Amino acid sequence: MQQTVIGIDIGGTNTVFGLVNQSGKIMAHSGIKTQAYAGQNFSVYVQALCEAIQELLADHPTCQLTGIGIGAPNGNIYKGTIEHAPNLSWKGVLPLATMMQETLGAVSVLTNDANAAALGEMLFGNAKELKDFIMITLGTGVGSGIVSGGNLIYGHDGFAGELGHAVIVPNGRQCTCGRQGCLEAYASIRGVLQTLTEVLNTNNTPSSLREMPAEERTPQLIYEAALQGDVIAIETFAQTGKMLGLKLADAANYTSPEAVILFGGIAKAGDFIIHPLKETLEANVHSLYRHKIKILPSALPDNDVAILGSAALIWQHLDSIKTT
Ligand SMILES: [Zn+2]
Repeated sequence: MQQTVIGIDIGGTNTVFGLVNQSGKIMAHSGIKTQAYAGQNFSVYVQALCEAIQELLADHPTCQLTGIGIGAPNGNIYKGTIEHAPNLSWKGVLPLATMMQETLGAVSVLTNDANAAALGEMLFGNAKELKDFIMITLGTGVGSGIVSGGNLIYGHDGFAGELGHAVIVPNGRQCTCGRQGCLEAYASIRGVLQTLTEVLNTNNTPSSLREMPAEERTPQLIYEAALQGDVIAIETFAQTGKMLGLKLADAANYTSPEAVILFGGIAKAGDFIIHPLKETLEANVHSLYRHKIKILPSALPDNDVAILGSAALIWQHLDSIKTT
C-alpha cells in the first residue's frame, strides 16, 4: 500500500482533485462541476464530491488514504471553513473540512487557495530551498501566500496575506471586494483587460488588439501581440508590472522575502511583466532590500499547482504532528 493524499482545488466553476504521493506525483485526477450544484444545498455538493473521491480511490486499490487537503476561496485553516466566498453560490460559513472528514474518515485540512499554492511551491516547486518568499497568483483574482521562516503566515483569524486587496490607488478602480483601488483591480485578468482598454483609449498607435471586439480580448492574445512587438500590448503589461512592483516594494518591508514567485495565466507574459516589475520594485524598495529579491516564475505545472498545493497541506500537517 502506498500512502496517498487527496489534494482538492475548489473553484467557482470546477472542483478538481488528485491522488498525490509524498514525492508530489499526481497518480490520478478527477473532478466534478461546482456550478452544477449551485442551486442546491451545500451538503448535496459535498456528498457528490465525496462519492467522486471514493470512486477514484476504488480504481486505485494500492493507494491508502492518509488525508485530504483542500484549497478553497476564503478558506480558513484554523476552523476548516470556507467563509463568505464571493465566487461560490453557497453563502455564509461552510464547515467543509469537518464534513469531508466525517464522510471519508480521513484527516482534512483546508486553507485559502493562494496559501495552498505557496505550500505546493515550497514542497515541490521553485521554493524548495526558500524559507522566506511571497507567492502571487495572478488569475481571475490576485491571491498571495506569504511564507516567513518556513511557515505560512495565517494571522490571528486565518486570513493573513491578501496582497491582492491592498489598496494601491486610493479611490481607484472598483474591486470585487466592494472597495476601490485594490491591486486585484489592476493585476487580475479583468484588471489587465481594463488597462488594455485605457491604453487603447490614450494611445493611437496601430494595434491588432484595437480591431478586436473587447469581449474577445484575453491576456494570452495580449501576450501574442507583445511578442510581435505590439506597443499597446507591451505598454499594458508594463503598467501591470509597475503596479505589482510598487506593492511588492511595500510588502518587502514586512517580511524581507528572498523571492517572489509569480503564478497564473498573466504570469505567462514573462519578461513583459517581470522587467517593469523589477524596475519598479528596485526603484521603490528600501535600500536594505535592494537587489536582494528574486522574481521567479512558478515551477509547477499550471493545471496541477492547486492539487499539489492542497496535498502539501496534509504532508506538512503530518510532519508537524511528528515533530511535536
Ligand atoms: Zn479588493
